[in-house]
Amino acid sequence: MISSIIKRITGKNYIGNNTSSQSRITFKTFNPQKNKENEYVFYEASNNEINEAVSLATKAFESYKLLSGKRKAEFLNTIAEEIILLDDLLLQTYCLESGLSLDRAKKERSRTIFQLHSFANLISNDAWLEPSIDTAIPDRKPVPKPDIRRMNVPIGPVVVFGASNFPLAYSTAGGDTASALASGCPVIVKSHPMHAATGELVAAAIIRAAQKTKMPNGVFSNLNSSGIEVGQQLVLHPDVKAVGFTGSIKGGRAIHDLISKRTSPIPFFAEMGSINPVVVFPSILEKRGKEFAQKYAKSITEASGQFCTNPGLIMGIESENFSKFIDTLSKELIKIPPSCMLHPKIMDSYKEAKATIIKQHNVQVITAYPNKVKPNYVKQSLATVSGKYFIETPELQQEVFGPFSLIVKCKNKEELERAICNIDGQLTATALGNILDLNEFKNLISQLSNKVGRIIFNGVPTGVEVCNSMVHGGPYPSSTDARFSAVGESAIKRWVRPFSYQNWPNELLPEVLKNENTLGILRFVNNKLTTDKIQ
Ligand code: NAP
Repeated sequence: MISSIIKRITGKNYIGNNTSSQSRITFKTFNPQKNKENEYVFYEASNNEINEAVSLATKAFESYKLLSGKRKAEFLNTIAEEIILLDDLLLQTYCLESGLSLDRAKKERSRTIFQLHSFANLISNDAWLEPSIDTAIPDRKPVPKPDIRRMNVPIGPVVVFGASNFPLAYSTAGGDTASALASGCPVIVKSHPMHAATGELVAAAIIRAAQKTKMPNGVFSNLNSSGIEVGQQLVLHPDVKAVGFTGSIKGGRAIHDLISKRTSPIPFFAEMGSINPVVVFPSILEKRGKEFAQKYAKSITEASGQFCTNPGLIMGIESENFSKFIDTLSKELIKIPPSCMLHPKIMDSYKEAKATIIKQHNVQVITAYPNKVKPNYVKQSLATVSGKYFIETPELQQEVFGPFSLIVKCKNKEELERAICNIDGQLTATALGNILDLNEFKNLISQLSNKVGRIIFNGVPTGVEVCNSMVHGGPYPSSTDARFSAVGESAIKRWVRPFSYQNWPNELLPEVLKNENTLGILRFVNNKLTTDKIQ
């Protein structure tokens, strides 16, 4: 299999339909299971190649934005088919570059395919353009009312940065790319250097799909990079109209600050880190303490804890049952065999972030996997701190991207509430309790809701369902714009802007706004949702 991967990987950039390798800067990906570099070589995108990709995307936008939803859906569905055809080659390449299991590779591929199909399905019906029509009232006093018709239009070329921990579902053909292409925006992916071969295989699949479905050249490009320069140049390019990012708070914040220096501001949608607080109410522990300890041991260690929804913070009120829960969680945690991290760099960041937490005053490591592990394998651990010190120490809110949780033991309900008020923005929060707790701790739940994009009852935060009602985002620093979700069909809204036609001739309006409503879709007409045509 390795020899077939080597044969297929060119290491080149995809500038629209052409491949290119102008730069002398090269790099390799890393196999963390084998603890050595993979053989194939990648060429970093040069300034010329970056400019060419943006220029092609800008040209492609003019024709791509005019294609019907059905044509774009055909493109997305063909990308999904092409990805499936990559079969074992893709799965094995994914595993070689990430150290993640074959089972995880298959699950992530299914999710990627599902996302592509669900955006294809969404745009097959033009109702997603949210047409709204206010008809004219020429004899209105004191001034006549004009005819105004509004719909969503794509924003222009989008740059996508994927995260290291999701080589497929949040990367080259992941949710950001699928939603941007669905909206009518060309996409330039800044490929993640840790899984550049997986990225190349998927990029080639997208290009094949673009050619098969006769999409304009430049609708998609894939640029390699071994450092931050390619991404920096891309986000500063005046013809780039929006940026989607999945990654760390540090990276997201740096790009946000860079974008804010542009002459023309553009939207930047960053989905970043989170410690996903879990609040354990006393009532649940008596009967379900063991069950939750087992579930949380699994959730903390799944994929070596390399999930943005990892439960990094577990909070409760001191009691015999809470102590018993912590004890069982510790025992369950060390039963789980350690697993491989994505890359030695991620391992170093994990160690550094964990060290920052455990060196803080009054933080105690209470569990750590005791046995020796292979290189790049990570030992899971738990630490505790009192509510008082948690409140006083902002450093304790730092994300530790790996199998680690900090347990906060509060003296009473008031201290727990203060600790929650002190938490930064998060993707999720979880309440473990019963319905009576949700009523009794109403204020605390309300405070928790202010901080997050999704609140979970008696579950674990890991595992993000892809569906229309999902919110994957939240107040800063979990994302840069809490009004949008990066997962689910609503993610498409990040790449469109509202556009109005005033007194525009009916025959020249886009089909969705014409009087006849030949598409038979639901539209707001004079503030009423209807499929009626306008007389
Ligand atoms: P990362 O180090 O921030 O990298 C993400 C991408 O951003 C990479 O392509 C990286 O390029 C680029 N980048 C980073 N800093 C940059 C800068 N200053 N200027 C320009 N580009 C920059 O994150 P990661 O290691 O890939 O992913 C792990 C993190 O992602 C974790 O913190 C996790 O919580 C978060 N995550 C969030 C979500 C979510 O939806 N909220 C999902 C998954 C992961 P280079 O590598 O070339 O520098």
